[in-house]
Amino acid sequence: MLTNYNLACAVNHHAMANPDAPAVVCQARSLTYAELAERAARLAACLTHRPDWQRLDGQALRVGILASRGVDACVAVLGACWAGATYVPISLKQPEERVLTLLAQCGLSAIIADDEGAKLLSERLLTVGPRLVIHAGQSLLVPRAGAVEMVDMATLPPVTPEEPAPMAASDTAYIIFTSGTTGVPKGVMISAGSARHYLTTITEWLDLRASDRALETCELSFDFSVHNMFSTWEVGAALHILPATTVMNAVKFVRSSGLTVWNSVPALAGMLRQIKALAPESLASLRVTVFGGEQLPASTVTAWQSAAPNSVIVNLYGPTEATVFCLAQRVGKPLPLTPGRNVMAIGTPLPGNEARVVDAHGHPVADGTAGELVIAGDQIADGYLGADELTASRFPTLDGKRWYRTGDLAQRDATGCFHCLGRIDNQVKVLGHRVELEEIDAHLRIVSGADVVGSIAWPQANGMASGIVSFVGASAIDADRVIDELKNRLPPYMLPRRVIALERMPLNSSGKVDRRELHQLLDKEAG
Ligand code: AMP
Repeated sequence: MLTNYNLACAVNHHAMANPDAPAVVCQARSLTYAELAERAARLAACLTHRPDWQRLDGQALRVGILASRGVDACVAVLGACWAGATYVPISLKQPEERVLTLLAQCGLSAIIADDEGAKLLSERLLTVGPRLVIHAGQSLLVPRAGAVEMVDMATLPPVTPEEPAPMAASDTAYIIFTSGTTGVPKGVMISAGSARHYLTTITEWLDLRASDRALETCELSFDFSVHNMFSTWEVGAALHILPATTVMNAVKFVRSSGLTVWNSVPALAGMLRQIKALAPESLASLRVTVFGGEQLPASTVTAWQSAAPNSVIVNLYGPTEATVFCLAQRVGKPLPLTPGRNVMAIGTPLPGNEARVVDAHGHPVADGTAGELVIAGDQIADGYLGADELTASRFPTLDGKRWYRTGDLAQRDATGCFHCLGRIDNQVKVLGHRVELEEIDAHLRIVSGADVVGSIAWPQANGMASGIVSFVGASAIDADRVIDELKNRLPPYMLPRRVIALERMPLNSSGKVDRRELHQLLDKEAG
């Protein structure tokens, strides 16, 4: 029998085997597996019963999801999957210009919007977007949209769920856009086969169970959400979505819902620690804690061990390009620290993945030597949407195998454990978001009119950055105007808090802006 790689298959399976089990909960709303499956199948029917719903060149059609995390977002993602489409999350936290760039890149067949997303459906956006928009709620900016067919999700007729549409391992399951150095976000294409491999591996590795209640803290545009939603549904467990407005009450949320699985970037735990929310045993219901997506500081782990004494803690590492996470480290005693740094090791490759540290020519280096971390195996992305050259340079073939060059500086120790030592390039994490500083610089150059510019992630505490500061090579600058103009181009987490004019920009030996010196400048200023 042919395997159907559609990500919705697990939900369909649990909807039949255990229809009344809770699948997703967010504030006052919740759906059982049967309800979630029926809603997703309803959406899928609306998409697939249209005459123009036909695969082109053997490719799955693409459906944009304009939604913030919540029950509707889950239904939208699953509906797109159920229809056999590639789902493309579009972050709501970005200006219209950036959404337009993204729409121009990905040729969507439809958009599904929740109430929040519907508020962003401007005339401009609808003009360049797809012909079909399925939306929830009444918050439409443009109630009548000319050639675009607008369908209210609430009016979709009930259906008897059919099987999710067949998908092959090579079909693209989702495309996630990340910051791009040229100023344009790049779409990472993940196949249904890679996603399936990841979900099978990680649910087994973490020993997730149908009785689990797992936390969702991520937006759909961050691939950690793929882990949160689909690993939970893979085992028939319940996904509890932490509303974006109550993030600082996460501990109370875990306690009141009796959650058993925590999923977040370490930055969230760091913030909870800062506001002294991590009292001893305050998270006693947790049995699994997944931290991933950025460095995991020892201080966070120590506070967590006391707050969640019954929980296993794992540090998961991975770029979007290797399907969520590809290396894993269980945190035991003594703490598996990276030598000389107070952060956790990133561990060893998950089954089906291979990791190597290589030199500038792609040759493996000896253990203990720093080099670039490269990843191969079943989870490597198909590449970047419409960017063949970039794909070829980031996914080289070494020793007859396709690898992904992560851009992370790493070393492997004598036990085979990998350690992440920072970046080779100018990619940073700002409060958990992946940012290419060059993307900010590209826009800064345009709005400031200066040729020489440089942005840095600052301030940094515990190895984490909480903001951006930008510099322009000029004698004076109207910083407020520049920041205001950048607001039309960049999402809030990429906006500089300050733009500083420097008559003489520090340059390094290759004539590039010396970001290290810019850091020192601000450190000195802060005393
Ligand atoms: P993203 O594609 O947003 O998941 O970002 C991937 C990048 O985040 C990696 O290339 C690393 O630089 C960083 N990263 C992800 N997980 C970890 C981790 N557990 N420890 C250290 N850095 C990490």
